[in-house]
Amino acid sequence: MASYEFDIGILGGGAAGLTVAAGAARLGARTLLVEKEKELGGDCLHYGCVPSKTLIRTAQVYHLMKTSRQFGLPAIEVPTVDYGEVVKRIQSVIQTIQEHDSEERFCSLGARVVFGSPVFTDDHAIKMDGETYSAKRWVIATGSSPSAPPFEGLAEIPYLTNKDIFSLARLPESMIILGAGPIATEMAQAFCRLGTEVRVVQRSGQILSKEDKDMADSIMEVLRSEGVQFYLNSTVQHVKSNGNDEQEVVINQEDSAPVSLKAEKILVAMGRKPNIMDMGLERIDVAFDRKGLKVDERLRTNLKHIYGAGDVTGAYQFTHAAGYEGGIVVSNAVFHLPRKVNYTWLPWCTYTDPELASIGMNEKRAKETGIGYTVWTEAFKANDRSLAEGERAGKIKMLLDEKENPIGVQILGPHAGELLNEWVSVLNGKVKLSTLASAVHPYPTLGEINKKVVGSYFSPKIFSDRVKKGLKLFFQLKGRACE
Ligand SMILES: Cc1cc2nc3c(=O)[nH]c(=O)nc-3n(C[C@H](O)[C@H](O)[C@H](O)COP(=O)(O)OP(=O)(O)OC[C@H]3O[C@@H](n4cnc5c(N)ncnc54)[C@H](O)[C@@H]3O)c2cc1C
Repeated sequence: MASYEFDIGILGGGAAGLTVAAGAARLGARTLLVEKEKELGGDCLHYGCVPSKTLIRTAQVYHLMKTSRQFGLPAIEVPTVDYGEVVKRIQSVIQTIQEHDSEERFCSLGARVVFGSPVFTDDHAIKMDGETYSAKRWVIATGSSPSAPPFEGLAEIPYLTNKDIFSLARLPESMIILGAGPIATEMAQAFCRLGTEVRVVQRSGQILSKEDKDMADSIMEVLRSEGVQFYLNSTVQHVKSNGNDEQEVVINQEDSAPVSLKAEKILVAMGRKPNIMDMGLERIDVAFDRKGLKVDERLRTNLKHIYGAGDVTGAYQFTHAAGYEGGIVVSNAVFHLPRKVNYTWLPWCTYTDPELASIGMNEKRAKETGIGYTVWTEAFKANDRSLAEGERAGKIKMLLDEKENPIGVQILGPHAGELLNEWVSVLNGKVKLSTLASAVHPYPTLGEINKKVVGSYFSPKIFSDRVKKGLKLFFQLKGRACE
């Protein structure tokens, strides 16, 4: 039997790779972790979730300062933003989390960490900086990168991506954002709140195109009211640079002449491409396509001892999905307990203000699947805590199938991502809706909206004419006291 230096080798030290490395090493597997960059942590820590949420919070505080009158406070003249200070705060948050994702920590868990660009020499070995490392099993968890759309002129101009925006030397005066997905929408609001004039160009007629239109449109209205300008149903004709401080995007819109937009910076946020190149995958015949590594439900590639996890598979590109998939790989590759992925209750959240959080099916997905459903809603303007907080926008939508079982929930509102966690438990734990309806929630909390939407489903049943008639008959109730 062939012998290998390591039980498991992992390419990529981001959310997926780190989960596998920690799990495998702690279970006693001889583990190798290979990272291309100088530090562990991946996109989420350095260029994604962590810096974006830190920036969003800073922008939110600045926005609150500017809107102090709405809280019965004196109006204040706020100075302009020093983006250098904002970058310092972002870096300090990254550095704090970096300690948790450090080489030392993984070494203390028992994994060997090496830095460099690996290339497969055969399906059990990689070569890097003249050294060969062999492992019985491999995991490819190399993540994804911002994709550059083939717009005329884009390759010739200095455009920004998520790799640049959290370390800019100063706040741009104006910015055109190409794309209107979660990253684009979050950044549009954050930069606009900080003082940048923001315009968003979107090909379709809706922002956040995976979400239901009513929810996405509500977010767009909030952003519009704060000053973000949207160009929907617009395709980019070409892009050019008019010098360092002026970039130009010419867009085509239905039934109108081309429109020229000019701004200091262009941010491209039009999707992601998997990091699968230059690793020798072709040489060892691992199957992949434009979207990413092809994996089965146990996350095995066509070579059963090579697994794929995280963004590189092109499935659900979230940190928590990468972590979940990392756990599935540990189960299959180290424990030898066959486990398949199941994304039925995979939640996600777009961290605009208000946030939009989702689990299970929304109306769009239910329609695509052909499932019959009913929708139950409750508005935040009817939630006492929401009013006290000065938050009026948004609602919760609960979808039930034909058998009246929950198939999905979306929450648009303050702290929606946090509020969704109750549904994560309810849906994964198969908790009955009647249990949620009868559970006591503290008052006044935003979370009461979860109970209330379930109440809106039960109340026509409880307070029906039939029930009232029965009660009248059995207990001689006298009926209304006020007409
Ligand atoms: C702006 C932005 C905001 C985001 N916000 C959120 C959010 O709020 N919530 C959320 O859930 N998700 C968010 N995401 C998505 C999240 O960052 C990714 O889904 C997550 O990082 C995927 O983890 P991963 O391990 O697959 O990839 P990564 O975290 O990118 O890790 C891959 C690692 O592999 C390394 N690598 C690449 N090529 C090689 C190679 N050839 N050899 C060795 N190593 C290699 C990379 O350097 C990297 O360290 C956001 C993304 C962006 C861009």
